[in-house]
Amino acid sequence: MQHRYDVAIVGGGIAGYTAALTAKTLLLDYVWLGEEGFGEKLRSAEKISNFPALTGTGADFAAALEAQRAREAIRLTPARVDGVYGGEEGFLLTAGDAEYAARAVILATGVETKGTLKGERDFLGRGVSYCAVCDGALYRGKKIAAVVSSEKYAEEVEYLARFADMVWCFCLYKGRLPHGDNIAVRTERPLAVEGEGRVERIVCEGETLPVDGVFFLKDCLPPRALCGGLEADGAHVRVNRDLSTNLPGLFAAGDLTGRPYQYAKAAGEGCVAAHSVRAFLAKTQK
Ligand SMILES: Cc1cc2nc3c(=O)[nH]c(=O)nc-3n(C[C@H](O)[C@H](O)[C@H](O)COP(=O)(O)OP(=O)(O)OC[C@H]3O[C@@H](n4cnc5c(N)ncnc54)[C@H](O)[C@@H]3O)c2cc1C
Repeated sequence: MQHRYDVAIVGGGIAGYTAALTAKTLLLDYVWLGEEGFGEKLRSAEKISNFPALTGTGADFAAALEAQRAREAIRLTPARVDGVYGGEEGFLLTAGDAEYAARAVILATGVETKGTLKGERDFLGRGVSYCAVCDGALYRGKKIAAVVSSEKYAEEVEYLARFADMVWCFCLYKGRLPHGDNIAVRTERPLAVEGEGRVERIVCEGETLPVDGVFFLKDCLPPRALCGGLEADGAHVRVNRDLSTNLPGLFAAGDLTGRPYQYAKAAGEGCVAAHSVRAFLAKTQK
């Protein structure tokens, strides 16, 4: 039988880390899903002067967090979560082929700061996808586009090319480019996704490419793409003071809940969300 955690924490940044640290202190059975390194935003800060007792760069901050994480034995499971599904027993989270079950969830996935493409949100589930493994096979023999934010997704583009006839790949990064006879790499940012009812084309400067689907391969998914039925206001999840959302058992923390985008706010919310999970479990497990 599948193990059911008390709480699944999604996002490897400061909000997710603080939620995991607090969950451990509260003796919750947690799984923390994300990538190593505490997030690119934290690592890339040049100078931090507004976090208590901290001076230095983002890299110094990440090193201090890593030392504490090792001391406190906080486990991180490397995973990019692509779906959160609610049910009677709690939640099922999917990350490629892997699945995790939990009674409660804390989303701490940050916000997309590079902006979404015109039309991207309008065609969610109607030709726009964020997960190559989940939806790649739907595009067997079709023409698709991939808008890719990092070289770590190059392999996912190559995976898509095993199904699709043609992949127009917009690589918005410096680094390894995907290879394949049916992959055409472009380095400009496309302008819009368009169609009547579902995706039919991707518009670039001076050119329109007919496509059946567009994959956005990036770290930060729009909240509603991750979890259907979640109330959001653009990039931000709507939360109550205890960081609960409109879905019972689902909490959110950090940049994902809105401004100010600050480490101290994200860390504080990670802590509050874990306490709120404990209160939720105590109430619902009687
Ligand atoms: C250059 C720069 C400098 C900054 N300097 C400062 C500063 O000096 N002081 C300050 O207070 N703030 C600063 N900030 C803001 C600060 O970085 C953010 O407020 C903070 O990182 C938010 O933390 P978070 O955990 O909510 O989100 P993030 O740090 O964005 O972390 C979210 C993590 O979740 C991961 N993730 C997303 N989706 C998924 C998924 N589906 N599955 C698994 N993982 C996922 C992301 O890859 C990321 O690792 C700076 C930001 C930038 C960009």
